[in-house]
Amino acid sequence: MDVSSLVQPIEEATKVPGPVLSALARLKLKRVIDALNHFPRSYNVRSAIKDLRAGMVASVVGAVKSAANKATKRSRMKLTEVVIDDGTGAVTAVFFNQPWLVDRFKPGAKVRISGPVDYAYHKWSMKATSFDFNPPPLAEGLEAEYPLTEGAGNDDIAMLIGKLLHHAQAIPDPLPAELSGKLRLMPIAEAYKQLHQPTHSKALEAARLALKYREFFLLQAGLRLRRRAEALDTGLVIRVDDELRQRALRYFPFSLTNAQQRVCRELEHDLTTPGRMHRLLQGDVGSGKTAVALYACLLMIDNGMQCAIIAPTEVLARQHAVNIGNYLKDTKVRSALLLGGMRESDRDALCAEVAAGKVHILIGTHALLEDYVRFKKLGLCVIDEQHKFGVKQRATLRGKGDRPHVLAMSATPIPRTLSMTLYGALDVSVIDELPPGRTPVITEWVHRSREAAAMEKIRAELKDGGRAYFVYPLVDASDKVEAKSAIEYAEHLKNKVFPEFRVGLAHGQMSADEKDAAVQAFRAGRLDILAATVVVEVGVDVPEANVMVIENAERFGLSQLHQLRGRVGRGRRQSYLFLLGEPRTSEAIDRLNAICKIQDGFKIAEVDLKLRGFGDFAGTRQSGLPKLHIGDFEADAEALTRARNDIAVWHEKIDPELVRDCLELHFGRKYRLLDV
Ligand code: ADP
Ligand code: MG
Repeated sequence: MDVSSLVQPIEEATKVPGPVLSALARLKLKRVIDALNHFPRSYNVRSAIKDLRAGMVASVVGAVKSAANKATKRSRMKLTEVVIDDGTGAVTAVFFNQPWLVDRFKPGAKVRISGPVDYAYHKWSMKATSFDFNPPPLAEGLEAEYPLTEGAGNDDIAMLIGKLLHHAQAIPDPLPAELSGKLRLMPIAEAYKQLHQPTHSKALEAARLALKYREFFLLQAGLRLRRRAEALDTGLVIRVDDELRQRALRYFPFSLTNAQQRVCRELEHDLTTPGRMHRLLQGDVGSGKTAVALYACLLMIDNGMQCAIIAPTEVLARQHAVNIGNYLKDTKVRSALLLGGMRESDRDALCAEVAAGKVHILIGTHALLEDYVRFKKLGLCVIDEQHKFGVKQRATLRGKGDRPHVLAMSATPIPRTLSMTLYGALDVSVIDELPPGRTPVITEWVHRSREAAAMEKIRAELKDGGRAYFVYPLVDASDKVEAKSAIEYAEHLKNKVFPEFRVGLAHGQMSADEKDAAVQAFRAGRLDILAATVVVEVGVDVPEANVMVIENAERFGLSQLHQLRGRVGRGRRQSYLFLLGEPRTSEAIDRLNAICKIQDGFKIAEVDLKLRGFGDFAGTRQSGLPKLHIGDFEADAEALTRARNDIAVWHEKIDPELVRDCLELHFGRKYRLLDV
């Protein structure tokens, strides 16, 4: 048996009834290995026959008393009825259309039978879904219970996986043989068998540990390989001298903060020494990441290279283009903006200039990934809000150069356990200081009864030259969700609450041009109030805006609230955030209290993590890691650390091809090379 049996579609490996097949699709289980990696979420204790209840999926172990084939009257179905007795009672196990089985159930033989239990006509019966002669002693019996979905019962899934279990023999072990031997972990095939059909809890625990350890080993070995490849990649080493350094810094109308200067040195080091840069730049909203990224760009450009800056939204890309354009005003460095909706002739003209190397910094949205974008010599990719891009997209951008340097930026810090894992695969820089003159945003959770007072406060701010965002969770009012929609509410603000001010609207259903026009008008001061959905979440930079009101604040996540808050407090005026809403869960109340108390983005991320739990975080695009099948970054920190330490010792014995194949096997093709 080889690995190809594991990647074949499930329905090719075994017969799968139609409803089960669509349930599998819903569970995203396609290949045999996916089914094997679909682990039970819990286990049921096996039952004595006297304790059976109708409806439960049970396993019983007993001696065969009788076995006989029967034909049903109405259908042509053939039944095999096997009566088993375990000393506490008897039950009839029923098999459908497998008449040949009858000879295997010799009276007196000991057998385990599993399946859903029914009680009818004073008789207990089980629809047998699996059986096993020579069952292990039932000191403690456990029954797997799978994450369920419509269309398939637990028994369907258990039966299906049971039929595929023998394929686990073909799963390769990513550990070097010596290490495997030394650790005495349960062998893979046995571990899969135990996890799906455990004999007792001790073995189950050992099986769990064996697979968790291997999962962590695999991920971290993959990250290490990637890292090593980058370190060996000597291309694109640039030269930087004091003169260039000074010149680059003169582009900025301010002096960089200490944190920015430190990160600039870190980037410079990456760019001037062998080994491709692959760095994550983390910094709170408004900490000045863009300036640092531009510094790196300027060093590359002076060395004859082009740079690309990609951002997840048009608003944000435009913002970068405006800011960078301002910094570069009156210089020979040329930046340009490429958007998806551009006129074709404009786009072609721009692309021709990029291909000719005349544009030094190309800023844009996903449009940068299109085939028509070609660089003459792309040396650095800056990926803003990197977690909003998929692995493939990031690879596509990189592919437009000859292994260019990569600077990924994010305002959402990764939690510690995760960064420990990623560490060694990725350099992390942190800007932990805000530019001078920022004042903490006064954040208040306003009770409905005090809403009017808050509006008066806002009126005073607007009269005094301030500008305000009003943020709503949804675009359209719906019956189901009692949230005020931006459209409706903008009208309400305009006509009822603030008739003396100019109110604009920006939401996700508007065309990019309309949306942009609104943001531009707000920035230019032609609007006093911008009513908006979360389109303003990322990157919008209007220093004059000093008030934000968030409606139904309880519907937003903590990190999202913090991102939104980052839109104010950028200028010299004291800024305010007013949270409106009526949280109904204690978690939502905790969230609102936290955002009022805490200003620091890293602390916010910690609290957010506690409230949401880790599962939400790891394995999302945020981390760049695949979703784990069995390990848990938080709960299994010990196994995680052990695997990491072992890799440090054994790395020379690790087989890179084997690790890549295992990554692809377990997590799919796009994770063959881990790209975090
Ligand atoms: P981020 O991308 O980290 O959210 P930006 O790079 O957009 O932050 O910077 C936010 C604002 O702060 C911009 O208007 C920028 O011009 C300004 N800024 C950045 N660095 C400094 C600094 N050292 N001193 C003063 N203002 C700065
Ligand atoms: Mg930014």
